[in-house]
Amino acid sequence: MTQIYNFSAGPAVLPKEVLQQAAAEMLDWHGSGMSVMEMSHRGAEFMSILETALADLRELLAVPDNYKILFMQGGALAENAIIPMNLVGRKPQPATIDFVHTGSWTAKSINEAKKYANVRIAAAAPDGRFHAVPKRAGWNLHRDAAYLHVCTNETIDGVEYHFNPDAGDVPIVADMSSHILSRVIDVAKYGVIFAGAQKNIGPAGLTIVIVREDLLGHALPCCPSAFDWKIVAEHGSMYNTPPTYAIYIAGLVFQWLKRQGGVAAMEQRNIAKASLLYDYLDASAFYRNEIAKDSRSRMNVPFFLRDESLNEAFLVGAKAHGLLQLKGHKSVGGMRASLYNAMPIEGVQALVDYLKEFEQKYG
Ligand SMILES: *Cc1c(COP(=O)(O)O)cnc(C)c1O
Repeated sequence: MTQIYNFSAGPAVLPKEVLQQAAAEMLDWHGSGMSVMEMSHRGAEFMSILETALADLRELLAVPDNYKILFMQGGALAENAIIPMNLVGRKPQPATIDFVHTGSWTAKSINEAKKYANVRIAAAAPDGRFHAVPKRAGWNLHRDAAYLHVCTNETIDGVEYHFNPDAGDVPIVADMSSHILSRVIDVAKYGVIFAGAQKNIGPAGLTIVIVREDLLGHALPCCPSAFDWKIVAEHGSMYNTPPTYAIYIAGLVFQWLKRQGGVAAMEQRNIAKASLLYDYLDASAFYRNEIAKDSRSRMNVPFFLRDESLNEAFLVGAKAHGLLQLKGHKSVGGMRASLYNAMPIEGVQALVDYLKEFEQKYG
């Protein structure tokens, strides 16, 4: 079989070592006689898996002691409702939420938040095209906001924050679904960090929520108990059955990340991978990336062929070279290469080699 490189934006590539380990342990986890899928979530075996995963994630992200890590379900989109239900109660009703509008995912978050609060757009890309993170100096923040919502990596548009946002005393809620664990972050700068697992962590079904303790305990009466962060935290993410197998795989990914040298080492590799691709695109007259250089995502690289009539031939040729899932999101078009932690630099090199070969043939 040809070497395969999977550039999907999510669900996405996982480390081969992790999949091999999961396969080896599929029928009998550590001599327990059971698959992880068959274990009681309250049994000693699964509890050890959960506790190790929590401790490893805390270590990898250097999560301070006054933050809870919650393993939830519903994906990042469910959090778009769960977050306001947990946070707007801190302010007199109707509360207001500030947003920095950077693309497709903040658009969805804004629409959902409107069900629970007044929404103000503190900043947005001026031309309505999401090609850059709005400069911090231009943000129009409100001191009475219940929180400020940002998406620090816009998976579809390919726009990433390369600075820690700040909003004074107003807690910042950050959707980090598609770049969590790809770079060093200062958790203490945020009130809440959330991420669906299926981009850079593990299988779909698990949602990570990292929340500062003083933000617990303000849920609106309408908030389902299973989505009330305080209740979830008090039950150690076991108020109801958590997504056990997804947690197990995420735990294997955390151990793999530690063996790779942790998040700082991953960040260096991610910089090298992204530079390799962007440098080629920038030097070529055949392809183009439209994102401002200071806002380019290291994880998701949308790019276009100047002659879009070649798109289909490009994708067919890519597949024949073992380069999978490069088609861009339908709202943006063109191509998109996602370079998550589990994508080795060899995969990016193979993509660049193919870009060159295709350009030589058709350029
Ligand atoms: C994928 C993604 C989501 C949606 O996640 P679901 O798990 O499908 O709900 C939200 N935000 C960002 C930034 C994403 O990349």
